[in-house]
Amino acid sequence: MKFGAIDASGNRFLCGITTENGDTIDKAVFLTETPEKTIPKVIEYFKGKAISALGLGCFGPIDLNPNSKTYGYIKATPKKGWQNFDIVGSLKKALNIPIYFDSHTNLAALGETIWGAAKDSKNTIYLTIGNGIGGGAIVENKLVHGMMHPEMGHMFINRHPRDKFIGTCHFHGGNCLEGMASIPAIERRWHKSLSSLEEDHLAWDLQSYYIGHAIVNYILVLAPEKIILGGLVMKYGNLFPKIRKEVQKLLNGYIKTEQIKNIDTYIVPPDLGEQSGFFGAVALCLSLIHISEPTRP
Ligand code: ZN
Repeated sequence: MKFGAIDASGNRFLCGITTENGDTIDKAVFLTETPEKTIPKVIEYFKGKAISALGLGCFGPIDLNPNSKTYGYIKATPKKGWQNFDIVGSLKKALNIPIYFDSHTNLAALGETIWGAAKDSKNTIYLTIGNGIGGGAIVENKLVHGMMHPEMGHMFINRHPRDKFIGTCHFHGGNCLEGMASIPAIERRWHKSLSSLEEDHLAWDLQSYYIGHAIVNYILVLAPEKIILGGLVMKYGNLFPKIRKEVQKLLNGYIKTEQIKNIDTYIVPPDLGEQSGFFGAVALCLSLIHISEPTRP
């Protein structure tokens, strides 16, 4: 048996075929343009490949409630053309196979738990910091779904005392993490591209301050055993040590666990690089293949 997997982010659709052991046979990347341009390419790729099911991780917000009439839709995304797009329905109509669906950040957390940096953890947070900020969570070995999936990128945060920037979030301005610490926020605040900011620039103090605040809140609410930080921003500014220091400073000795003490192995980069979400989609597919797929009313 063969399976398909998709990690759909705001920039690209990473598609692939795997064996029933999760070994990748083939991969392809398509840019996230508009549904009219991108989805036919994705369908064309999977058609004729004899896959038995498809795991799909998608940028959000998405409707994951199987009792909702819009189950499988992308909802109020700022990504132009994708608002209220029935992504599961479109793929299902063309491929006619079971499709297992979740947020791409939830699936990144799953991929890292099965094959990556969180192998020893039952409670994992995955946060990606790029053009947007998104987070996924696994609690007691289960992906978190309540009324929807977590939207950790929009966590409300305190403003840095030296920061006057108004923020970029269409919904929360400068009140939320994405509005203050995503790539558009960084570049608009400093009038510089991400890659041209020097390593000693104040920008990185602000980044670690905002990301550190958000992480402390995740720690206090979910008590994760591993926190994984991915996305393009994390490749710049030597952020990991700064964020770890900020988290310990903010906790101020209140949480005394092995993880907080050994924070270098607690807040870490993904082991699977930019493929955490793709492997999460594979893992979702493999784990659910014997369970019937959700059908909306
Ligand atoms: Zn927001």
